[in-house]
Order: sequence, then C-alpha cells, then structure tokens
Amino acid sequence: MPDDGLETGAETLLYEGKAKRVFATDDPRLVRIHFKDDATAFDGAKHATVGGKGEVNARISAALLRRVEEAGVPTHLVRVLGPRDHLCRHVEIVPIEVVVRNVVAGSLARRLGRAEGEALPFPMVEFFYKDDALHDPPISDVHALAFGWAAEWELAYMRHAAKVVNEVLSAFWGGLGIRLVDFKLEFGRFGPGRLLLADEITPDGSRLWEEGTGRHLDKDVFRRDLGDLGATYRELLDRVLAAEAP
Ligand code: UDP
Repeated sequence: MPDDGLETGAETLLYEGKAKRVFATDDPRLVRIHFKDDATAFDGAKHATVGGKGEVNARISAALLRRVEEAGVPTHLVRVLGPRDHLCRHVEIVPIEVVVRNVVAGSLARRLGRAEGEALPFPMVEFFYKDDALHDPPISDVHALAFGWAAEWELAYMRHAAKVVNEVLSAFWGGLGIRLVDFKLEFGRFGPGRLLLADEITPDGSRLWEEGTGRHLDKDVFRRDLGDLGATYRELLDRVLAAEAP
C-alpha cells in the first residue's frame, strides 16, 4: 500500500524500524521520523498493514510529547512536518526500554504469575535490554552498568523522568475515561550530559483500558485478535483531538 506523506526516495534512510523510518535532513542534528502503517507483534512474527495507523500514531505521539515537554521533560520532537512526519533531534538511543506500570499486565503477569488487572501499590519502573535477538530481556541497573548500556546518572534520570511522564499521561488518559495500565519509553543522548525523551508515545507502546468496560484501546487488539485495530486507533485519536480542542 502506498505510504502518503513526505516520501521522496531521494533522502538518506538512517534507520528502519518496525513502525517508523528515520531519515537524515540537511542539518546533522535533526532527523525526520516517518510513521508507517505497519503493525507487528511477537518480535515481528505477526505482521499486518493497517491503513491510517501511521498518521494516527504520529498525531497521538505529537500531542502527548508536547504535554510531556510542557511538564518539564525535554523530548526529541521539534515540530510536526506533515500528517505522519516529525522533525526530531538526532539522538543516540540508549539501548534500554523503560516500562512504567500502574496495573499488572503482559510480561509482568506472565513472568511473576500475577493476575492481569491487579492494581500496583505504586507505579513501577522496569528496564529491558533492547535486543530483538534476545527478546528484550528484563535487566537490573547492575547489568546496564556492567555492560556499558547506560551510566548511573542516566538510569536515575530515566527512572525519574518516566515517573513524571506517568503522572502526565495518567492524568491525560484518565480525563478521557481511559486507564493507563503501562507504557514503554525510550531515551536518547543529545550532546554530553543530556538525555531527551525520544521514540514515540502511542497505543503501540502503551496499554490503555477503557474505564468501566475494560475494553482494550491499544496494540493488544492486534496482539490478541480482539477486533479492528485501525478503527480502535481512530476512535482513540478522535478522543485525543476532542481533548485538544479549545
Ligand atoms: N512494549 C513496547 N515494546 C516492547 C515491549 C513492550 O512498546 O518491545 C510496551 C507494551 O506495549 C506495553 C508495555 O511496554 O504497553 C509493557 O509491555 P510488557 O513488558 O508487558 O510486554 P508485552 O507483553 O507487551 O510484550
């Protein structure tokens, strides 16, 4: 399916991930991030193209990154370039996925034998080593320090920033009648001693449960075959845009 947006074919592709492409720009400090329509799960074993998904994710991520930035957590987003393109600072991604959880779900439920839906007594921050071949294993600070994946101050900063982001996002989604169960963040290095929140904040990397019904408004719809992912994401975007309206 043709991807609309700003594809020219003449630019340097720096990186292609499962859901995004990263292009060089004229300024080495900036990149263009293009959100694709691909949905993947289980390390890419399950794949589909979902029309409009890239645009929905680009819009939701821009809205959420702006709110996070306003709350004092610097992000890589400079500005929105097009319906599914962001101009971002060119960071070096820290190879650690930072997961914040408010409710037990997914890998936490499986790993420790807890029931999905159990409320946690406090928001929990977990680190996972970003490595597809190893299936992103959970790690502790000692592993990150011993193997040089992050410095001590970076771990402390990511933990702190993730909790601030959780407060912002929990309040935002809560205002829309949606419970923020968990989400994944990635951070990037931008010059010495500076980390920025990078990547995306989307329903691909979050669990969002509708209050009252418990309906999943996130990528679990795709992972678990719960319904139409495209329609679910569009509904979510409509709710976000209604909240953004003056
Ligand atoms: N997550 C993600 N990318 C990953 C792994 C997890 O975005 O590679 C997100 C996932 O969507 C969920 C949260 O991080 O919102 C926690 O995921 P979990 O560890 O429960 O793993 P899962 O069972 O989703 O693979």
